[in-house]
Formats: sequence, C-alpha cells, structure tokens
Amino acid sequence: MARTTASPAVCVASTSLPPNVRVERHLLPRVEKILERSPTFREQCRRLAAAPWVHVGVKLNPRVFDTRGYRAVSVIQRPRPNLLIALVTLEVLTDPAVWLAHELEHVLEQVDNVDFEALADRTRGVWRVGSHMFETKRAIAVGAAVAEEVRNRSAHHDRDVPRERPATLVDDHNSEE
Ligand SMILES: [Zn+2]
Repeated sequence: MARTTASPAVCVASTSLPPNVRVERHLLPRVEKILERSPTFREQCRRLAAAPWVHVGVKLNPRVFDTRGYRAVSVIQRPRPNLLIALVTLEVLTDPAVWLAHELEHVLEQVDNVDFEALADRTRGVWRVGSHMFETKRAIAVGAAVAEEVRNRSAHHDRDVPRERPATLVDDHNSEE
C-alpha cells in the first residue's frame, strides 16, 4: 500500500481523538481516517477537547437496534451541571463517518445547552422519536457533511496518488468519451 507522505507533526495533530473521547479499539482505524479527512469532524473533536467535563465512550454493538431500526444511539447523562457522560453505541455495519459525527453532534448540543423538550414543541429542527428521545436536524446535517468530506477527500487522494500505485487501484474511471 502507498506510504503516507504527510509530515509526522501534521499527522499527530489531526488524527488524534481528544482524551475525553474514548473509542472502541476496532473502530479506531476508521475514526482516524475520518479525522484525517474531515475538517467538520476535527472541529467537533476540538470542541469536545475544550470541554473536559464531557466524557464520551463509543462502542460497537451488532444487535441492539434490530427491533427499532436505529443505527446509532447516545445515552447522555448529566449527573451534575459540570459533568456529562455520553455512551454512544453504533451498529457494527453502520458508517461511522455519518453516525459517529451525528452522535457527537448530539453531545455538542448538550454542551450548547439545547433545550430539546422546549424546542420539540416549537420548531421542526427538533422532534421526538420516543420518550425522552429526540432527533435533530443539526445532527443529521453534521453527519451528512462529515460523510461528504470523507468521500470527497478520498476521491481527491486518488487523483494525487503517486505513479507507482498499482493500475488496478488507480484506473476506476470510465475512459469512454
Ligand atoms: Zn440523532
């Protein structure tokens, strides 16, 4: 596989999760790729790093959403005003670029003190999906933006690939004119 040519300093800065976001080991390589490619995701991480009173744990689960069809769920607890604990569960087969970003945005909504109960009755940006469960336009938009950045950045990378890359990996464009 192609060796990365990015400088080590840049790599370290852009591919590290904040210490208060802990991701299950299996998921780490994919999350590092998202960090590398998505400025929106890096901004989410920067904001979480700036809120050390927030603790996020992310794990994969193969089955828990079968009955309801959810692909990701966050359980967020605020036992004290200056302590927030979020447990994010992603379905194993889900795209973490969409769904981890989506769930981290729900955590940031809490950091921003979004009042879901009040907003759900008044706006179309927040709506109820169960008792004490809400969905927001904001989280959906961020998930879509991060997925888009990951896709675009990888397409860009493909064009910049050095010549020694095997032809089978480079030539995926239709050359008919
Ligand atoms: Zn959501």
